[in-house]
Amino acid sequence: MTIHTLYSASSLDRLALCPPSARLGKDIPDTSSIHAEKGTRIHELGEMLLTGESVDIVGIDADELQIATKYAEYVWEVAGEDGVIYVEESFHDALAKYHPELGGTADTVIIIGDELHVIDLKTGKAAVQAMENKQMLTYALGALEHHGINKFSVVHLHIYQPGNISHVSYPATRIKSWANELIEIAKRADDPFEKPNPSAKACHFCKAKTVCPAIREKAITNAQQDFAENNLEKLLDDAKLAITWAESIQEQAKQAILDGADAGHWHLKNGRKMISYKDKVGAEAYFAENAQAFELKSPSALKKIGIEVPAQYLEEKVSAPSLIRKE
Ligand code: SF4
Repeated sequence: MTIHTLYSASSLDRLALCPPSARLGKDIPDTSSIHAEKGTRIHELGEMLLTGESVDIVGIDADELQIATKYAEYVWEVAGEDGVIYVEESFHDALAKYHPELGGTADTVIIIGDELHVIDLKTGKAAVQAMENKQMLTYALGALEHHGINKFSVVHLHIYQPGNISHVSYPATRIKSWANELIEIAKRADDPFEKPNPSAKACHFCKAKTVCPAIREKAITNAQQDFAENNLEKLLDDAKLAITWAESIQEQAKQAILDGADAGHWHLKNGRKMISYKDKVGAEAYFAENAQAFELKSPSALKKIGIEVPAQYLEEKVSAPSLIRKE
């Protein structure tokens, strides 16, 4: 079971950059996205494969199943014949001795003799590295605490991601020394005198960006800079922060309009209907004898040439509403 903690392992990069971010965002509800939902489905599939739960492939996206299957194969390869595999291990209790708000759930832990492996499945596009990865170091510390802090000599951290496998090995002493850095991050996050510290990296996924005065002030200051006086990298970093802030304002405005607020000439336009495959494997089997249909992947492309895909293979989604200005 996943236990939500204020200082979760996945938020440590941001906490290290902007200590008050967790406290500022703690009462703001989580939002989801198409990418996050896809990641959750792949993780669930991976967990089912690793625990031997039967997977009913009807209605499952073939690409998602393939990613989950490759991840499970990677785990089995690392475990070999002697490894003991633990799936979805939560380390809230194990990490509470360092700080009560620390927590995290590792996708997979494998124990082979006196070596411990932590494997994390990532489904995003940006390649993530295992080396000195705060999230992975924290999972490893939790795993050591849980399985025996002095039982292991070597700890391996693995990121499994489509198109990117990153692996680093540490002596167990490095994981133990990470505890001091972790406690320091948590202490600063507790400190009411720590000021928000906006940056493109910290603010991008921060829930507090809709209420944080620091990101607004920084975005406005950045916008006043002269293009010619700045180096391009800094200018682009500053622009990314301004975009992050502007997008958070638009999201907040959409919710306010949905709740009945008057935004003058601004209105919400309904999202577009999109038809996609709910059961791509089934649809491909259905069209196995029809080369013309089989080669064309999208349902709308098939419709254009007069081929209807049976409804049981399709699902309809509506994209999020967008803001438009009407004069
Ligand atoms: S929006 Fe940025 S500056 Fe503000 S709390 Fe979040 S990470 Fe910190």
